[in-house]
Amino acid sequence: MELSKIINELGEDRELYFNAIAPPIMQTSNFAFRKVADLGKAFEDEMKGYLYSRGVNPTIDILRKKLAALDGAEDCLVFNNGAAAIFAGIFANIKSGDHIVSVRAPYTWVQRMFDVILPRFNVSTTYIDGKTIEEWQAATMPNTTFYYLESPNSWNYALQPIEEVAQFAKSKGITTLIDNSYCTPLYQKPIEMGIDITMQTATKYIGGHSDTLGGVLCGSHAMMKKIFDSEYLNIGSGMQPFNAWLMIRGLRTLPLRLERITKTTNEVVGFIKQHPKISSFLFPFDDTFPQYELARRQMKGACGLITFAIDVKLKDEIVKFCESLQHIMMAVSWGGHESLIIPKCAGISEKDFNPGNIEHRYVRLYCGLEDADYLIKDLEQALNGI
Ligand SMILES: *Cc1c(COP(=O)(O)O)cnc(C)c1O
Repeated sequence: MELSKIINELGEDRELYFNAIAPPIMQTSNFAFRKVADLGKAFEDEMKGYLYSRGVNPTIDILRKKLAALDGAEDCLVFNNGAAAIFAGIFANIKSGDHIVSVRAPYTWVQRMFDVILPRFNVSTTYIDGKTIEEWQAATMPNTTFYYLESPNSWNYALQPIEEVAQFAKSKGITTLIDNSYCTPLYQKPIEMGIDITMQTATKYIGGHSDTLGGVLCGSHAMMKKIFDSEYLNIGSGMQPFNAWLMIRGLRTLPLRLERITKTTNEVVGFIKQHPKISSFLFPFDDTFPQYELARRQMKGACGLITFAIDVKLKDEIVKFCESLQHIMMAVSWGGHESLIIPKCAGISEKDFNPGNIEHRYVRLYCGLEDADYLIKDLEQALNGI
């Protein structure tokens, strides 16, 4: 289906709501029945009809249809945030005694789930770089049932060969889940590469305005139903109607925003590349990137995030750089209208700071919707001050 049709029409039965262009926010917790038999039918399968908004809701369904189509998936579930989506997607597919293989340094709260929560249920995790299929094969044990991918990683943009990993997992009956937040389905479609479940945080590019949180899982209808019937209904972290409405609004401009951010990011990369105070940088679509070939092969685009190392000896210099920025704000997250910076050293004490470790000098920049010149001037004045 055409992208424009998905974004503007799919799932929107306008004749049901007075032909309003914008969909209604069905801010209701429950739905009424006239016939006992109909109520009985709704109890049988909560995913099929409207009964209670912890399950399905009409505004949320519009969003689900659009997101499933964007991913090329049969079905979709939306959550209150990305962390909840990941938790449900993993928890529904493991049991006591299982083993997980995961990429190293996944999103913070995923790592916490693997390191702190799952060991309580006798589920262990092996972390690998995951850059070659051989690493996945070597880490797989007889009780491995789940592979966790994040490609690209949101700090160092490390990639996995998605198609090969998915193919090998299928041959072993292993379930695969990928965090596709960096690319969104516009720049990468892992379902088409054989991945079972794609996840993205809707808080970032889909919402796009830093005003709401959301998380997305896409996959086969059977997989979504399995998650819906257990974790989705039980943990009760489904998206709320108003937030779904904001996400639908965000989707209307997603292609436009990504196009703009891609252009701006390329200009900012050009500036960073030639600046004497920046010793190195990471951006998947720059030919200096270690996995450049793979990035070009499996991704349609790269944008927004750039990680660079400032050529300094002291943490104070990085602090000075970050605090001298006049327009680029310091905050976690990304994907919104506003450009942001976050230094790795914020989590490292003065005495542990080691300039010899390049990661300690990493600063991650997110390029938002401002003019490229405006951002470059800001970076330039802050770099010149150190
Ligand atoms: C932000 C983020 C998440 C978590 O999403 P929330 O909506 O904040 O819970 C997961 N993965 C990546 C790569 C992220 O950047």
